[in-house]
Amino acid sequence: MNRIQGRRAVVLGGAGFLGSHLCERLLADGAFEVISVDNFVTGDERNLTGPRANKRFMSLHHDITEPFDFNGPVDFVFNMASPASPIDYAQLPIETLRVGSLGTENGLKLAHRKGAVFLQASTSEIYGDPLVHPQREDYWGNVNSIGPRSCYDEAKRYGEALVAAYRRVHQVRTRIVRIFNTYGPRMRLEDGRVVPAFVGQALRGEDFTVFGDGGQTRSFCYVSDLIDGIVRLALSDVEEPVNIGNPREMTILQFAEAVRAAMGGGGRITFEPLPKDDPKQRQPDITRARTLLGWEPRVALEDGLRETIAYFRGVADRPAHPRDAQKQHLDTGAAI
Ligand code: NAD
Ligand code: UDP
Repeated sequence: MNRIQGRRAVVLGGAGFLGSHLCERLLADGAFEVISVDNFVTGDERNLTGPRANKRFMSLHHDITEPFDFNGPVDFVFNMASPASPIDYAQLPIETLRVGSLGTENGLKLAHRKGAVFLQASTSEIYGDPLVHPQREDYWGNVNSIGPRSCYDEAKRYGEALVAAYRRVHQVRTRIVRIFNTYGPRMRLEDGRVVPAFVGQALRGEDFTVFGDGGQTRSFCYVSDLIDGIVRLALSDVEEPVNIGNPREMTILQFAEAVRAAMGGGGRITFEPLPKDDPKQRQPDITRARTLLGWEPRVALEDGLRETIAYFRGVADRPAHPRDAQKQHLDTGAAI
């Protein structure tokens, strides 16, 4: 019996891309009950079609910046709630700061009351535009505190500080995962991140929009690998932050080539201006995850892209998330 079996877990942000995969994994591992708490600002009820078929799953519509509580025991609180795409958080800067601060604290209070393990979804963005490469967990980062990405980066840095304070003051059993770029089914086609952006463009026969000269690097982790790392971390005793990501680093131009190869052809490249403070390089050092959790990624980019493209083909014709439908209206100048 593993230690998810028979346990009760609360997933904040459970209707999002990563949260919905985590809910599924916890149910598959035999959790007694999994409760998603989400206000659907960037998440989607349709991500929960699988879990909803399970009697051990419950979905609550709630903004976690407002207090919440549950009757009975809670063993794990997973905090996945926050806009995560640069376009989403640029459009929702105050909401992003509030969910990263007030929302995280409400989650920590729940874990404190219940004696639960609290796992915080942090991010490689806490390293900012890193001057140390690859990024190890003991690097303190290079973050612009007032730039366009600051609402996200600083909320996540504050979140880590709050988690550390609740551990020191209240002895909450805390875990911090620093997630590097992760992709897979259930990302929103229009969320602006590079994986859905390029796949969507290829599906529509449009050019790839490469920002800057495309020489900036990222390292892409498939969602099942990431979720496995999160579950291992939650079940461990590791209190220091742990990077989870795929160390295979490539330039954005190389990534465009990979998407083209996976789709059997595709668009040309159009260069667009590089967004301000866009990190130039990013690659996780995963020594800590390897040694403390026995974790490393297994899914090759080519295989993960195949699954992701199949998913996007399947949902290309369904109505967009309200956020994206609104953007499409704005793009075409239509009244909303
Ligand atoms: P997502 O936008 O798909 O999911 C976030 C979820 O949080 C959504 O369902 C959204 O509706 C919910 N949410 C936001 N504010 C809320 C609030 N106030 N109350 C309740 N629910 C709220 O994004 P994702 O890619 O699944 O990211 C999940 C988490 O992982 C985020 O915390 C993000 O910062 C972190 N992360 C993700 C990546 C990645 O590559 N996907 C990388 C680093 C960190
Ligand atoms: N990017 C791009 N074209 C796009 C979307 C993104 O060239 O249409 C670039 C972006 O500038 C960044 C990288 O791809 O350098 C990854 O962007 P994403 O938004 O996926 O995540 P980030 O790592 O910046 O948070």
